[in-house]
Amino acid sequence: MDINTVEQQLQRFNPRMVAAALRVIKSIPYFKKKIKAMILKESASIMGELEGSLKPYRGVFPAYAALPEKGVSRAEVLSIMRRIKSREEAKWKNGFVSGAVYHGDAGHIDFLNQAYAINSQSNPLHSDVWPSIAKYEAEIVSMTAAMLGAGSAGTGGDGICGTVTSGGTESILLAMKAYRDRAREERGIRRPEMIAPSTAHAAFDKASQYFNIRMIRIPVDGNSRSDVAAMRKAVTRRTVVIVGSAPSFPHGMVDTIGELSELARRKGIGFHTDACLGGFILPWLERLGYDVPAFDFRLPGVTSISADTHKYGYAAKGTSVVLYRDPELRHYQFYKTSEWPGGLYFSPTFAGSRPGALSAACWASMVSLGERGYLDAAEKIMRAAEKIKKGIEKIQELHILGDPLWVIAFGSEKLDIYRVMDFMTRKGWSLNGLHRPSCVHICVTLRHALPGVAERFIKDLKAAVAHVKKNPGEKGGMAPVYGMAATFPDRTAVTDMLDAYLDTLYKV
Ligand SMILES: *Cc1c(COP(=O)(O)O)cnc(C)c1O
Repeated sequence: MDINTVEQQLQRFNPRMVAAALRVIKSIPYFKKKIKAMILKESASIMGELEGSLKPYRGVFPAYAALPEKGVSRAEVLSIMRRIKSREEAKWKNGFVSGAVYHGDAGHIDFLNQAYAINSQSNPLHSDVWPSIAKYEAEIVSMTAAMLGAGSAGTGGDGICGTVTSGGTESILLAMKAYRDRAREERGIRRPEMIAPSTAHAAFDKASQYFNIRMIRIPVDGNSRSDVAAMRKAVTRRTVVIVGSAPSFPHGMVDTIGELSELARRKGIGFHTDACLGGFILPWLERLGYDVPAFDFRLPGVTSISADTHKYGYAAKGTSVVLYRDPELRHYQFYKTSEWPGGLYFSPTFAGSRPGALSAACWASMVSLGERGYLDAAEKIMRAAEKIKKGIEKIQELHILGDPLWVIAFGSEKLDIYRVMDFMTRKGWSLNGLHRPSCVHICVTLRHALPGVAERFIKDLKAAVAHVKKNPGEKGGMAPVYGMAATFPDRTAVTDMLDAYLDTLYKV
């Protein structure tokens, strides 16, 4: 979701006033209530204005707050959707968007759509009716495991197993739940803890909240990689899992997974590699001769991995894979009950009924691309990424965070990087604004491997830097927002705003 837009709205608060007011409030609870009410009122009015940009189709296309009495013709429904789609697709198709659509070639999309259509009625919950989906999912898991070090010498790889899930977040949530439940069952741990680098995905915080696992975040080192010594110090008798990313979403750096997983192994703790972003690229980059740090099951301490088929697996959105070193750990993920009057009930993931067609389309993506297809895609992506990295390195005012492969975060000592991003937005780019530290990233996909896209990015970026240098005092855009979000004293005001944003999304 678009946090940028939300943070943009925060500039309407006068930060000095809020900061001063909050200092007073700390000692006088009465004011706390007052300010909170003020902020709520303010955010309501901001959201009112924000609604326009979040709801661009109001008054343009028919809206239905309740069922239409008489059904709209199929032709009309499809026509509406086609018109809306054509407004939205140019941006990602032409390579202006960081991440989001990872393949995007028309032929590939058509093929996935056909695979979906053939299987659209399937539901793997009824495995007797659709054994096809169990076949597709078993093979998706096996192909992913084989790619990520299963069966490699000396690791007992044959026990490596997993499930297909609905996305990276579900893969992560399920693995964290499995570690929590295993630690409770086998080690009697009632108040579990997990340790993750500061850059590990927000899905781990989500798992922490949902499953009552205390989250211990450890800042990354100067190279944006996990800090082994600091993470070692954080281990307690309650630690159930240590996490590392391959690579991290913000800065694209592969964590020190070799050392961390060894630490976990020696202590008898689980280790999860979050390869949601890298699982379907890193193995191929390694084969192409790139310097890829170890991250998969070839490391004996790695006990689970998440890898997103719906990112660089080039499947349609809605699938991911979670893998475990052994079936016993996977059993802690499975749900089963033998007492329900509805019968013996069991399901591998959070959902009951599931869209088998998405798994079928994912299988279709994987087997149609094959090793050659993934190698070829990885090579193209890296070539585009290298052009972009070289281009950024030549811009004196900018620096790249760490030494990434294809997710490239850059900041500036001299310029306000969010003003640079604002200029890029005006040029049509959709980049990711990051903070702590202030930077922006582009996650390179096959869309950026199209002829001329990397060159256009660098040309626009150079123009952006030149513009910001010339106009340091420019107003508006995202820049004041990020400065403010970084120093905004009341974090609950920020999260309240996010609630309001989500509420707005669900308005007709
Ligand atoms: C995308 C991503 C996730 C979460 O995946 P979703 O599919 O969006 O739920 C987790 N970790 C990393 C590193 C990611 O890039």
